[in-house]
Amino acid sequence: MSEITGRIIKTYNGYYYVLGRDGVTYTAKVRGRLKKARFLLAAGDWVTLETRGEEGMIETILPRRNLLQRPLVANLDWLFAVFAAKDPAPSFLLIDKLLALAEAYDIPAALVINKCDLAAEGFLEQIRAIYEPLGYPVYFVEARKGKGLDPIRAKMTGLTSAFGGPSGAGKSTLLNHLDPSLTLETGAVSEKIGRGRHTTRFAQLLPFAGGFIVDTPGFGNIDLRELELPSVEAGFRELAPYAGQCRFTGCTHTHEPDCAVKAALQEGKIAQSRYDSSIMIRQELAEQKKRGKKR
Ligand code: GDP
Ligand code: ZN
Repeated sequence: MSEITGRIIKTYNGYYYVLGRDGVTYTAKVRGRLKKARFLLAAGDWVTLETRGEEGMIETILPRRNLLQRPLVANLDWLFAVFAAKDPAPSFLLIDKLLALAEAYDIPAALVINKCDLAAEGFLEQIRAIYEPLGYPVYFVEARKGKGLDPIRAKMTGLTSAFGGPSGAGKSTLLNHLDPSLTLETGAVSEKIGRGRHTTRFAQLLPFAGGFIVDTPGFGNIDLRELELPSVEAGFRELAPYAGQCRFTGCTHTHEPDCAVKAALQEGKIAQSRYDSSIMIRQELAEQKKRGKKR
């Protein structure tokens, strides 16, 4: 027996597939006292395990950097939010929701705009002007032709990345061009374990560029219905500094006087579309809360 450190790359039926630092993939179970936390163990978790041959017993979970709930995956280095410039029509609200989700879960996010061949005049410049100043890396690509993917690949090297975005944005095409073997493997694995599109929220890690790509059921469709922001400010990095300065605590930044957020909007320090998204999301959160109370 020996103790090693490894990373859970897949969970299935109470088994954990752990890729050890030694390069061996161990089939592991969870030690009794950790069992209660069984559903908290996620693909992406770093663990220590006692091994015998290629079997293992997970002893401890190492501290996480972040944990996404749906899909269940830990320790993401990047979430690439993939949207099309057209077909489906881009929605600033959806973009901001996905970025807010990443922000709230403490996952670094980047924005990928695909189908640049179809972009309306001025759209790409608009996107760049809104998101780059916020610190989000922005990539303009044409996945179908494999154009513009090198910087994304470089960004992913040695790291663990997930792709999210609406269906039809071109995620499968993008991943296929990043690594043709990836999609094939994904389909095969999904079929083998009989995993339906919506039957599980478990993710798995696929080796890519010295790191991993997260393969999620439904192929990267991060579930925006799961958006549970503690507050809008938690999801909008440029709003937070102003939100505390409004005259009224609990200011909704709509009709109240002396609202620091609206002042920042008027001074051009917050983009109109981001402000609009934050108001929409705030309203949705408030409605969610109301419904939750009624239940
Ligand atoms: P997913 O649902 O996000 O995985 O999207 P897919 O990868 O299935 O792509 C949806 C559609 O967009 C397909 O018909 C692709 O051929 C098309 N598509 C992907 N990339 C591009 C692109 O760069 N330009 C254009 N015009 N179409 C693309
Ligand atoms: Zn306000």
